[in-house]
Amino acid sequence: MTNITSPSLPFLPFSKPTIDEATIAAVGDVLRSGWITSGPKVQAFEAQLSGYFGGRPVRTFNSGTCTMEIALRIAGIGPGDEVITTPVSWVATANVIIEVGATPVFADIDPITRNIDLDKLEAAITPRTKAIIPVYLSGLPVDMDRLYAIARQYNLRVVEDAAQAFGSSWKGQRIGAFGDFVSFSFQANKNITTGEGGALVLNNLEEAKLAEKFRLQGVSRSGVDGIDVDVLGGKYNMSDIMAAIGLGQFANIEAITAHRRALARHYFAQFGSGFEAASGAQLPVADFDNSNWHLFQIILPDQGPDTRATFMRQMAELNVGTGFHYAPIHLFSLYRARGFGEGMFPHAEKIGRLTVTLPMFYAMTLADVERAVAAVNSILIK
Ligand SMILES: *Cc1c(COP(=O)(O)O)cnc(C)c1O
Repeated sequence: MTNITSPSLPFLPFSKPTIDEATIAAVGDVLRSGWITSGPKVQAFEAQLSGYFGGRPVRTFNSGTCTMEIALRIAGIGPGDEVITTPVSWVATANVIIEVGATPVFADIDPITRNIDLDKLEAAITPRTKAIIPVYLSGLPVDMDRLYAIARQYNLRVVEDAAQAFGSSWKGQRIGAFGDFVSFSFQANKNITTGEGGALVLNNLEEAKLAEKFRLQGVSRSGVDGIDVDVLGGKYNMSDIMAAIGLGQFANIEAITAHRRALARHYFAQFGSGFEAASGAQLPVADFDNSNWHLFQIILPDQGPDTRATFMRQMAELNVGTGFHYAPIHLFSLYRARGFGEGMFPHAEKIGRLTVTLPMFYAMTLADVERAVAAVNSILIK
C-alpha cells in the first residue's frame, strides 16, 4: 500500500489560484493595448456580473473590503449607528464598521453552521441598529428568508459579506441575485480572483452612481470638461488588468463550483460516517446545493491551548497545508480596547481556537483529498 501521507510528496497547499493560459494571454493584450487602468475590460466585467445577478447593478472595486465600506456609506451609516455582525470572519467585516464611524456589535455564531446565529442577531438589535452584515463562512449562506424577514421587521439595511460566496445560492437563487447590498471579494484565494479586487451588487442606478463617486474621489463628470466633487470619495477602482483576469476566471465559474462540490463530497466519503466519533473532530455542514465550498473546515477536538498549532505543524510535516479562518475578531487588541473580551461569545471563541481549514482549490484532485484525509486521520485517530 502506498503511503499517501508521505512527506516526500510535493507540498499540498490549502489554497492556490488557477489562472488559465487564455486569461494570461488576455492580460497580455491589455498590457499591450495602451489602456491599463479602468476601461473597457472593467465595463465588460461589470456587465457580465450584472447579467449573472439577474440584471442588478454591479460595480467593481480594488477589494472586497472597500465594497462593504462603500455600501455602509451609501446607506448613510455613520457615528451613533450600530451595525451587527459575526465575530468569526476576516477582520475586514468589522473594521469597515469602525471605518465609517459606526459602532460594531457582535452576535455569537451557531456552532453547527459557524455563521451568525439569527436568534442572537435579533436579540442584539437596539433602536440604534441601522444595518447588519451577515457573513457566509466557507460559502454557506445563512437562512436568507429569516435574515430578510428580520431586516424588514426592524427596518435595517443589509450588507451581505458574500466575499466567500461567489457561486453559492439559496433555494435555487444565486447569492447576489436578490437582497440588499451584496459584497464579493476577488482576493487571490477566493473561488474566482482578480489578484485583488471586489464587486458590489446594488439596488438601483442611483446607488450605483454614488458607488462610482465613492470609488474615485467623489468625482462626477459631464460634457467635454465638466467635473465636480460633491462627496468625499477614495481611490478604490479596479484596473483593466484585474478585470481581464476576472473575465477569464468568471468564464469558468460553473466548472469551478461543480468541482469544489465534488471535492467536498469526496472529503465526506473519505472521512466516512465514523470519523467524528473516532477523532472527536467536527465536520462542516454537508450542503451540496447552496454552498460553493470556498473552504473545507473541521473543528479539532480540544486538547488545550496548543491544539491547533500542534495539528497544523503535524500536517505540515506530512506536506499538507492548512489554514485557520478565523481567530475571533472581538479578541483582537483593537476590539478589546473597545470593551470586548473573553467569555462574550463562547461559540465564536471555541471555534475560533479550534477551526482548521483543509486544502480546497480548483486544481485539486480527488487523490489530493485522499492524501489530506489520510494525513488528518494519521494525526487524530489513534
Ligand atoms: C476575503 C474576505 C474579505 C475581504 O476581502 P478583500 O478582497 O481581501 O478585501 C472580507 N470578508 C470575508 C469573509 C472574506 O473572506
